[in-house]
Order: sequence, then structure tokens, then C-alpha cells
Amino acid sequence: MKVAFFGAEGKAGAAVVARLAAAGHEVRGIEIGDEPDVAGCDAAIDFTTPEAAPQNVRAALEQGVSCVVGTTGWDPAELGAFASEKGLRLFVAPNFSIGAVLMMRFAREAAEHFPRAEIVELHNEAKKDAPSGTAKATAEAIGGNTVVHSVRLPGLVAHQEVIFGGEGQLLTIRHDTTGRESFADGVLLALAKLDELPPGLTVGLDTLLS
Ligand code: NAP
Repeated sequence: MKVAFFGAEGKAGAAVVARLAAAGHEVRGIEIGDEPDVAGCDAAIDFTTPEAAPQNVRAALEQGVSCVVGTTGWDPAELGAFASEKGLRLFVAPNFSIGAVLMMRFAREAAEHFPRAEIVELHNEAKKDAPSGTAKATAEAIGGNTVVHSVRLPGLVAHQEVIFGGEGQLLTIRHDTTGRESFADGVLLALAKLDELPPGLTVGLDTLLS
């Protein structure tokens, strides 16, 4: 596919672009300040900032191009409605790592059988917020007042354990992110399935994993 990429030189963007190119996609990086010209592209991808993403997405939709967005911290509802009016797709995923999304899915299933669970999320010391967005989403998915423990240390990348305790048994579901390339598999999946989605907004990689 011909893909326009907002944020191609960012930390996440660079890792994803390399994998898209290796998979045979033709990637056009759109620089800040450029009049975004995405005409003729099959899709636009955004890994920028919560301030930049809405205007990038609007520009792409106005040019008739559906979007895949990884940027977090913004509300896509209004642009989802705009996409729907135009018969285009806006796919937004707060987490493009297939392993992390499966971890949440398995945790939700385990919670039906194990009512007691705690989450340990471990990230590099550079991550300032705690608990992580993924830990919060997991806690919400498994319900109850799930306690989250946050660890911030050098040497860590991004890891999470969901520990279920039962009578005489423990079940631990763990996911380790060791590199930003992990986001590329989710982006490749979203590109492959973009045309099959209904027009308008779709949120979450889980919706694409059958
Ligand atoms: P980053 O390294 O700061 O990269 C952002 C990039 O976007 C920078 O290269 C920046 O350029 C560029 N940019 C800013 N405004 C732009 C605009 N108007 N048009 C085009 N490019 C623009 O940040 P990151 O770590 O890659 O993260 C980017 C976003 O993706 C964040 O919201 C993060 O939370 C999200 N993210 C999501 C996932 C997921 O799985 N959904 C995974 C990783 C990251 P300058 O540096 O020149 O300003």
C-alpha cells in the first residue's frame, strides 16, 4: 500500500516505518509544517502528539484518505463522525502491541474464574506516569478494585504481570515489550483490515483480533 506517515521520525514512528517498508509498503513521511499532501495514498498513519494528530487526521480525511492512529491522549469521536460522513475509516488503538492486547484479553477471561488479582507493571525510569495506561485498562477489564503496583527502574523496557490467586494455585499472565518494533505488527494488521472496517471510528486492536 501507499502510506502517508505523520511522525515518521519519532521514536515509535521510526520503528514502525522500518517494518512497513520491509513488508513492502511505500511510505511517504509528512514533515511538520508541510501542507499535508496525502492525495493518492491508500492510508495515513499518525504517531505524533495529541495536539498534532487531530489536524493531521482531518487533513487526510478531507483528502479522502482513511487513517490509522497510534497517538494517545486525544478524543477521536468528532473526527470519527466526520470519517463516517465521508464513508472513510478512522482506526485508533491506544496499544498496537498484539502481545499486550492478548494479555488483556486472557486476563479478562481468567478473571471469570479467579476473582482475586493484582497487577505489577514495570517500566524504565524515564516513564513518569504511573500506573501505566495499559495497567489501568487491564484493571478496568478484569473489574473489581484491582491493585496495581508500579516499578520504575533502569534496565526495564515495558513489562506487565497479572497475578491471579486461588486456593492452592496461582496463575500469572505476563507480557514483555523489548523494543518499539512490537507496535509494527499491530499497525500492519490495521492496514490489512482497514477496508473491511465499517466507515467511521473503530477503537482498539482487540476488535481486529478474531
Ligand atoms: P516522539 O518520539 O516525540 O515522536 C513524535 C514525532 O511526531 C516527532 O518526530 C515529532 O517531530 C513529530 N510531529 C509532531 N508534530 C507533528 C506534525 N504536526 N506533523 C508531523 N509530525 C509531527 O513520540 P513517540 O514516543 O514516537 O510517540 C508518539 C505518539 O505515539 C505518542 O502519543 C505516544 O503516546 C504514541 N504511542 C502509541 C503507541 C501505541 O501502541 N498506540 C506506541 C508508542 C507510542 P519533532 O520531534 O520534530 O517535534
